[in-house]
Amino acid sequence: MQKSVPNVPTHEEFFGLDDNVIDEEDFEANDEKDEKIKEMLVIMLALLQEFYIYHMYDDEYYFASEQFQEDIEKFNVDLKSNLEVLFNEYVEGLSNDYNLKWSIPIGVVALQFDLDELINNGIDSVTATLYADLKDKADFYKEVESGVFSPHSNFRRALKKLSNQIKVKGDYLNKKADRTYKEFVYGQEALFYWICSGINTCAWCYEIEAMSPLPLSMLPIDHINGRCKQEPVFPDEYSEEYLKVRGD
Ligand SMILES: [Zn+2]
Repeated sequence: MQKSVPNVPTHEEFFGLDDNVIDEEDFEANDEKDEKIKEMLVIMLALLQEFYIYHMYDDEYYFASEQFQEDIEKFNVDLKSNLEVLFNEYVEGLSNDYNLKWSIPIGVVALQFDLDELINNGIDSVTATLYADLKDKADFYKEVESGVFSPHSNFRRALKKLSNQIKVKGDYLNKKADRTYKEFVYGQEALFYWICSGINTCAWCYEIEAMSPLPLSMLPIDHINGRCKQEPVFPDEYSEEYLKVRGD
């Protein structure tokens, strides 16, 4: 069932530019869980916007200074702690949805993710790039002593990187959660078909589809925004564990 999707602030709304960072079509193919990713994006981009607005009129001497380095380190910590809360909620939501879908009592299937590592890698790279871009640019401006320094385009780049990171990680968590539950419901040994969507399907996916069905543990995790499905060969054959908790 398709839910209505709230408007995500556009690039223009954030920075007064014409081009959107978030393309609506990025969300179209996926299910309603993406609404939570959208909310996450809005919150994270708002934090970045806040940081930008605070520093948008600072000159090259600020961006070349140790103060900027300190500020961006604090900002990095802030982004990560916020995202940790949001991703924890996201995983909890995934877990609830799957428990409901399969009538599994809460706590039976545990979704275990190393969220720290997942978040740190991505956000560190966003802020490190933002810092390096601005520092280089500021050093250059200090040298030539002409032109008007503006951090605008660098924040735009960070904005794109940040939204990309969240989408990639959300998509990954979603696919891993789906797999964890399918393995519980059908059993570790159950065979699965890899079924391509046929919409912009890549050669890699077609190759996997052409193979004999395999247990999920032997199939790769689909790539970002992948629309392929993994369907059990015997959809009515459930694992003993699952039948037990379902009370059959
Ligand atoms: Zn593919």
